[in-house]
Amino acid sequence: MSASPPAADAAVPGTVDVAIVGAGVIGASIAYWLTRLQPGLSVVLVERDPGFADASSQRSASSIRQQFGTAVNVAMSRFGLEFLREAETLLEVDGRSPGLGLALPGYLYLATDAQADALRAQNALQRAHGAPIELLDAAALADRFPWLNVEDLALGSHGPGVEGWFDGPALHAALLRRARAQGARLLRAEVAAIALGDGPGARRATGLRLADGTTIRAHRTVLAAGAWSRALAATAGLALPVHARRRTVFVFSCPTPLPGCPLVIDTGGFWFRPEGRAFIGGAAPADDVDDLPLEPDHAEFDEAAWTALAHRVPAFEALRVERAWAGYYEMNLWDHNALLGEAPDVPGLLVAAGFSGHGMQQAPAAGRGIAERVLHGRWTSLDLDELSVARIAEGRRVHEANVIG
Ligand SMILES: Cc1cc2nc3c(=O)[nH]c(=O)nc-3n(C[C@H](O)[C@H](O)[C@H](O)COP(=O)(O)OP(=O)(O)OC[C@H]3O[C@@H](n4cnc5c(N)ncnc54)[C@H](O)[C@@H]3O)c2cc1C
Repeated sequence: MSASPPAADAAVPGTVDVAIVGAGVIGASIAYWLTRLQPGLSVVLVERDPGFADASSQRSASSIRQQFGTAVNVAMSRFGLEFLREAETLLEVDGRSPGLGLALPGYLYLATDAQADALRAQNALQRAHGAPIELLDAAALADRFPWLNVEDLALGSHGPGVEGWFDGPALHAALLRRARAQGARLLRAEVAAIALGDGPGARRATGLRLADGTTIRAHRTVLAAGAWSRALAATAGLALPVHARRRTVFVFSCPTPLPGCPLVIDTGGFWFRPEGRAFIGGAAPADDVDDLPLEPDHAEFDEAAWTALAHRVPAFEALRVERAWAGYYEMNLWDHNALLGEAPDVPGLLVAAGFSGHGMQQAPAAGRGIAERVLHGRWTSLDLDELSVARIAEGRRVHEANVIG
């Protein structure tokens, strides 16, 4: 969690170039890229809680992988890693560099006999797109990870050096700080609706209408409100299938160290990784419904989860759950992938939402991409068309098999 919330700026006069609703890691990254690519652009971030108490960006497991099932996600994360490696320089403000604690022991996806062909196919795609992910058979797994029970495993895929975890809230804070140092403003306010132009060309987004009745006028409006994006999109007549789905992260300790432990994704879907001297882990709940209160569901770490963990890592028989927290995945129920770019039928409005549990690592690429659309009307670096909002109306789904929890 961020230590001290940033103080917000004063009210915004006149018309701005770009108004962004939501100053989580996605909104902050968009503001950072806009003001980096075009210094002098007037950008305002409108955020109802600059302490970010419920924001997913403060409740994230903040891990980064290249083991995706689609080329666009592999490319976005590869750029995310490149950015993280340079972030201490890129995000420096007044001689202060953020410490992001980037650790790269890899992800380790595990597969039974029945799952092995799918893992091989994904590995081929990842390697074809430049992700150096190794395949390990059971003997190689046992050799590399002596603490792992491999008796029911056929295969694992491991990406040391290119996958791991970092301090996500620190990345969020640093993007926001640097964006503001580059001229972006942060306004504390609740947005009630996307403001729409009337007269000819009605339904053009003209800015943001605030809960206090005032309006921020903007040439471009960007919706980056995380798990709360659907309701705001509806105010512009846009149906966005982004739903707030609670995920609980458990922190547990184990008396036996697990040397070289990566982020492990077990065959049943439970994931875990080291966090300091402890471990964190979780899984998708059996009953996944919208808008549950942001309190951890301790029942999810039940006998079955415990048994499965102790089966995979016998040392976990002695594990102790220390605490837990919960946050919202901003789940895109259409196809579990980000929705990026212009909103169809609402000129002037762009969307960056629905990251479905991988938005922290995609924030650098998503922010750069949205900035390019705003400034140039096209992707100028990474082509993110596959993730366009228009794909819903077109009936097109991005098939991503590797959605975690
Ligand atoms: C438990 C958990 C684990 C995760 N693990 C990973 C991981 O390992 N790797 C990874 O890449 N990603 C992970 N994620 C996902 C990642 O954290 C999110 O995708 C990312 O933080 C989303 O950022 P955001 O800016 O879109 O949303 P948020 O951080 O939620 O920010 C949205 C902001 O919009 C503001 N807002 C909303 N409505 C309004 C309004 N009407 N007016 C004004 N402000 C408004 C909110 O206050 C909030 O601050 C995880 C998420 C969770 C919950």
